Amino acid sequence: MKTVVLKFGGTSVGTVDRIKKVCKIIAFYKNNKNRVVVVASAMSGVTNELVNKSKLISNNFDKAEYDALVSTGEQVSCALIAGRLKNNGFKSRSWTSWQLPILTDGPHSSARICSVGIKELNKYIKFGGIPVITGFQGVSNDFRITTIGRSGSDATAIMLAKFIKADECIIYTDVDGVYTTDPRQYKKAKKIKKIFYDEMLEMASLGSKVMQPTSVQDAKLNKIDIKVKSSFVAKSGTLITASKKIFSNQIITGISSTKNDAKITIVGVRDRPGVAASIFRPLSKNLINVDMVVQNISQNGKETDLTFTIKSEDLKKTERLIKKNKSISYKKLSFDKDLSKVSIIGVGMITTPGITYRMFQALASKKINILVISTSEIKISVLISSKNVKKAVAVLHKEFKLD
Ligand code: ASP
Ligand code: MG
Repeated sequence: MKTVVLKFGGTSVGTVDRIKKVCKIIAFYKNNKNRVVVVASAMSGVTNELVNKSKLISNNFDKAEYDALVSTGEQVSCALIAGRLKNNGFKSRSWTSWQLPILTDGPHSSARICSVGIKELNKYIKFGGIPVITGFQGVSNDFRITTIGRSGSDATAIMLAKFIKADECIIYTDVDGVYTTDPRQYKKAKKIKKIFYDEMLEMASLGSKVMQPTSVQDAKLNKIDIKVKSSFVAKSGTLITASKKIFSNQIITGISSTKNDAKITIVGVRDRPGVAASIFRPLSKNLINVDMVVQNISQNGKETDLTFTIKSEDLKKTERLIKKNKSISYKKLSFDKDLSKVSIIGVGMITTPGITYRMFQALASKKINILVISTSEIKISVLISSKNVKKAVAVLHKEFKLD
């Protein structure tokens, strides 16, 4: 008998009708002789509403109360699911995370799950029950409710799968898998059958919103295979795995793109040890996320140019911080908005030479200018003008035979 963890996201439980539909999926697994554990998010929109209310009450809302507040949406959806399952003749009950308990470490609103109490859970499953567990939350060692970051129910499902030693962890969502690129932007995007954790991590943090990056990290660290499927249509999904046995002649697995990037260049910075740290110190203090960073080798050993990217909404603030930074001297500042980062991702590039050239050549063939380049072992990113993103994705999708 297999044990499966089924996780349903906000849109999958977004209405009473959707919850009824989800209960049919749960029933399917149960009737096929599986042990079933359910994890659910709040009904879509509910968590956002709660966050907004906290802002209306106080612009410095207490962090512990924030978690107590925003975690309530999950209790509602779990009770509704369990209630429906009972109505349909199944043995089921809801479980909030402090009841298990799901213990967490770390600060409020971005805690991490460190252990899951499984004793009661195992007993209940053994006797045929279907536990329905609140995602996204836990309890700290001083017994306060914690949450584990927006979209964190994925991580709850993954950690439950780990602690109850599940055979499968299936994330039900509103898309039927992970695509080679955003299917809404590019019609020839194809569903990926299998993707490695590292590739998924890059895809997730580079703008493909199927899964929360920290959850993928949890899956990787704990070697939990994840299937991503749709609760709306019955279709095969995507497997996220570590298995090295995948046979594929595909070098690039996917292409992702970002929106609203901005670029700042500081020209003629006096080059001395510690200058980069002096530039970025105030940005980090103000929680401005810096993405790509390029520093040129200085020609004369005295001055250098430094370019970096941030989100457009941080541009004004960044400009102000640099201008009032007395610890650096430079000749000129220049800014660019409406930029996007387009990345190709694939573990295949570790062993295949010439990928960089093919990417640049493909972009050149469409006369797309590259502003900044950055690479990692399994990813090459270029910064280009946002108006060229569609063209770039299309030409790269074709070049790397993903069409
Ligand atoms: N309900 C939470 C959120 O909206 C957690 C989740 O959806 O996974 O962020
Ligand atoms: Mg969600």
